[in-house]
Parts: sequence; structure tokens; C-alpha cells
Amino acid sequence: MSMRVGTGFDLHRLTPGRPCRLGGIDLPHAAGPEGHSDGDAVLHALCDALLGAAGLDDLGTLFPDNDPKWKGADSADLTTEVVQRLRAAGWRVVNCDIVIATEGPRIAPHRSAMRTRIGALLGCDADAVNVKGKSLEGLGALANGTGVAVQAVCLLESK
Ligand code: MG
Repeated sequence: MSMRVGTGFDLHRLTPGRPCRLGGIDLPHAAGPEGHSDGDAVLHALCDALLGAAGLDDLGTLFPDNDPKWKGADSADLTTEVVQRLRAAGWRVVNCDIVIATEGPRIAPHRSAMRTRIGALLGCDADAVNVKGKSLEGLGALANGTGVAVQAVCLLESK
């Protein structure tokens, strides 16, 4: 059996009036991530970690943001496609760990729902999926709720 680690990062601007979908769930917030797809930076960072671990290119190459096919796409569908590619290549997800840095939506009240949702998308238990919110302490360009940055790490094992 072999194991692989992967890392992913994503960053989206938060725009007033956009749905605030992060980690595959809709958060009650007046601004949401801008993007060609639904802008779900959590699933995007996670998918890049998964693809990176498996050596399967990256999200932007598989689902180009200039392709009308992916305009308004549900990132949960992209994640399902990524998981199918992993399985076809003989990998399964052991666990993943995600940090969401934002001063936009509150993350803490929704961590449990995100873990359950992401676990369902990956085909693993919610306790193998961790999600943490992180404040930016009012520092830098992302402060004041203008954006969301996400870092994801995952571990895969060969089936
Ligand atoms: Mg993205």
C-alpha cells in the first residue's frame, strides 16, 4: 500500500449579493465568493489537494474558467468528478484538513454541516474531514470581509 499527501490553496473575493456557498453548503451571509463557478473556495482548495496527491494535474486545468460549460457550476459536481478520477486511478481519501481564513461569513456554526457534506462527497466519515475557521485579526487585504482564503491538506492511500 502506498500513501500520498497533497496540498491546495484558493482565494476568492466576496461580492455583495452573491450566494455564500462554502464547503458545499450555503451560509447565511450578505456576500458570497465571486467566481466562474459557484466560487466555493473550500471545495476548490480541497480538489487541488486531492488532485495534487494523486498526481492528476489541477482543478484549473481540468475545469477551465474560460469554458462556458463550467459557468455557474456547482463545485460539489466538480468534487464528485475529481473523486471519480481518484478512484479510477486507484486512490481513496484517508482524511483531509481545511483552514478557512475570512472575516466574512462565520465558519464555526457551520463546521459540523461542512464536515458531513464534504465527507459525503469524498466517501469518507465526517471525522476524517476537519474544517477550521480562522480570523485575519484585521490585517491585510482580506480583512474587513472582502475575501476568503482556504488551505487544504489531504492524505490518500492506494486501494
Ligand atoms: Mg477557486
